[in-house]
Amino acid sequence: MDRVTIAGAGLVGSLLSLFLARKGYRVEVFERRPDMRKGRATEGRSINLAISERGLHALRQVGLEAEALRHAIPMRGRMMHPVKGALAFQAYGKDDSQCINSISRGYLNEMLMSAAETGGVELSFGHRLSGVDWESSVVRFQEEGKSTERRVGPTVLIGADGGGSSVRQEMMKLPRHVAHQDVLSHGYKELNIPAGPGGVFQMEKHALHIWPRGAFMLIALPNEDGSFTCTLFLSFKGAVSFESLHCASAVQEFFEREFPDALALIPDLTAQFAINPTGSMATLKCDPWNVGGQALLVGDAAHAVVPFYGQGMNCGFEDCVALDALLPLGFERAFANFSQTRKPQADAIADMAVENFVEMRDKVADPRFLLEKQIEKRLLNAFPGEFLSRYTLVSFSLAPYRFAARVGEIAGEIIRELAEGATRAEDINLDRAGQLIRDRLVPYVKDNEYGFRA
Ligand code: FAD
Repeated sequence: MDRVTIAGAGLVGSLLSLFLARKGYRVEVFERRPDMRKGRATEGRSINLAISERGLHALRQVGLEAEALRHAIPMRGRMMHPVKGALAFQAYGKDDSQCINSISRGYLNEMLMSAAETGGVELSFGHRLSGVDWESSVVRFQEEGKSTERRVGPTVLIGADGGGSSVRQEMMKLPRHVAHQDVLSHGYKELNIPAGPGGVFQMEKHALHIWPRGAFMLIALPNEDGSFTCTLFLSFKGAVSFESLHCASAVQEFFEREFPDALALIPDLTAQFAINPTGSMATLKCDPWNVGGQALLVGDAAHAVVPFYGQGMNCGFEDCVALDALLPLGFERAFANFSQTRKPQADAIADMAVENFVEMRDKVADPRFLLEKQIEKRLLNAFPGEFLSRYTLVSFSLAPYRFAARVGEIAGEIIRELAEGATRAEDINLDRAGQLIRDRLVPYVKDNEYGFRA
């Protein structure tokens, strides 16, 4: 069968359709929402996102990296905002060449949809997947405003319909399919810092801004028009929570106390706070991701992760590259192989994203943690090619996520040992550091279970 139906024209569905069309399949994509290119829907996820090497690599394969980067803003590190006192900049990589990029979700999605159409993909909007007849491989869609369902098939089906995937729900009706969702007790709300006069950025443009405050935090990513999109991550319930910020004065006081410099840049804070929705976040793990060679889940439909590593879309884009490479095996073997090999990687980034939530929220303001970060940077510079950090591998390489997770554990142990008794990164003994790295990290990197060479 060379007919492939994709449910969902989000970031991953649109990109995957392009990969498949280039392989010669007849690809149709059905999207629940109206066409965002004819007036952008307000419903949806974050306004901008961070794209890093895995996502860029996928775009490179279909010739779209340069077009995406033309509208992206490089972010070279984290800019930490304390309640009082000076801002502190922590570079992400060993130098300015290693950065992540802030890009508009709407722009990226529209670009991918248009490229897919140009590549021969047929897109239908206002079509919600409503059911799958597994016996006949026919997929049913409910068209907006119509009372009858549209039947498509027989067809191979790919579920790229996000965290609440209908395709996944249909799969769960089959024996031996399991799914588990962990909903975070924190939610998020987006707020806008407008551009200053003449479109100037009112904070450092090339940074991801973070206001870490223990149980909650605010972050901000730059937009092309000089504005920043802030996201407040806060518990839904409790003494300081979305529930407790129930009126304008409570919101105003909270920001005066916790984020005074951000407040000064958001003139209509309380109005925005009241209007903008509060979103929830979850980790989704399911198994298997396929029904033989009939159907497959990709992107958030298979592995939604919390956003604290900025990897959800990047991981979904990496899915497209991985599946593209397996397709010559035929759908049956490709789907089974994809599910078996990608799931452990997706599980690893899901767990690292939860860990990073704790790191961003609690530790980025902790002097011990800051010292460890400085030591890490010193080691990255002093032992290039030998010392590796988890963040670098996740964001600036194509190393398997599980490999990055293990390297992070080994590197973390080395750093903690070196940090004992030190107050500055310059205090550490580089001879000892080199010894530890060569004894523990280098052997693992040389002889790891993935055959990956950094
Ligand atoms: P989605 O983007 O959810 O797209 C699914 C599509 O399917 C949608 O268009 C939807 O309308 C459609 N659909 C749903 N149901 C049906 C149906 N029944 N029939 C037909 N169509 C349907 N990732 C990063 O890499 N970097 C970041 O910086 C980052 N920041 C984030 C910040 C926040 C606050 C959040 C919540 C997420 C963030 N992510 C980030 C994660 C990223 O948003 C997701 O991983 C990415 O959107 C997944 O793409 P997708 O195409 O799989 O799913």
